[in-house]
Amino acid sequence: MPGWIYIFLFLFGICIGSFLNVVILRYEPDKHILKNVGGRSRCPHCRRVLKWYELIPLLSFAFQKGRCRTCRARLTWQYPLVEFLSGLVFVAVPWVALRNNPGVITYLLHPFPTSSAISQSFYHSLRLVAVGNTALAGLWIVVFLALIVIATIDLRLKIIPDELNVFLAILGIGAILIKYFLRGFSFSGGHIQGSFLESYATLFGFTGNVWLNALVGAGSVVVFLGIIHFFSRGRAMGFGDVKFSFGIGLLMGWPDAAVAILLSFIVGSIISLFLLAIGKEKLKSKLPFAPFIVLGITLVYFFGYDIINGYFRLFGVQI
Ligand SMILES: [Zn+2]
Repeated sequence: MPGWIYIFLFLFGICIGSFLNVVILRYEPDKHILKNVGGRSRCPHCRRVLKWYELIPLLSFAFQKGRCRTCRARLTWQYPLVEFLSGLVFVAVPWVALRNNPGVITYLLHPFPTSSAISQSFYHSLRLVAVGNTALAGLWIVVFLALIVIATIDLRLKIIPDELNVFLAILGIGAILIKYFLRGFSFSGGHIQGSFLESYATLFGFTGNVWLNALVGAGSVVVFLGIIHFFSRGRAMGFGDVKFSFGIGLLMGWPDAAVAILLSFIVGSIISLFLLAIGKEKLKSKLPFAPFIVLGITLVYFFGYDIINGYFRLFGVQI
């Protein structure tokens, strides 16, 4: 894909991120997440209505050096961070999708090429796979945007809005339907039926039935986090995290969802120990866990194969 498309995607992404900031900052628990989204943007400190040039993603924050132009109050770093990450999602997901399925644009845009050495029906199948994989990549862009909102709201309020968990579960069913559509083609890119761990998925008793696979994925993580929630009486793991993991399980299936949760515990422990060591956190204080789960999902989505490959190579196993 030419570079200017990625630049366009990034610019589009940071505008979406700007909207997500509004959604996050105006969210009030017990109210629907989209209830307060309408209305002009104001400075959270002096309540002045902001001009259009104060609402330009990334640039306004940079030029105003992170402060309100009138009251000089410090603006939260959440603004540029959420904008940048949203832009990154719009670049990274298509980039990975194209890396795994290099022919996708040709198959999508060009009807059967006259010079092609392959048969028309085979080309048609390639085209259907390209449509399916493009839909899956588009779906994952929406998933990652939802994950940004979930992680940021959990960091701010230590809560995961139920409507976002329902939204993720619906996206999960969408992902299952696309994988079900792709299942008949033996050449669906590098992913074996959508596992980001590729050939390693088979080591974990991967099942080729997409519905069963999603149910096992969701069941395993819900039971695992549910047990931690139950025995710690909600201290180590909130029930919001348990509900959150259900949608993740549907989206990623087995074993990807379980690996994502496992990685979130590893990353979570490392970061918690680091925060304890520098005295930022006390042993008793409860860290929001959703951001770690989001990190785990991100690691599996972008580096799942490399991480598992690296791990197994430690023991001399390679497939
Ligand atoms: Zn102000």
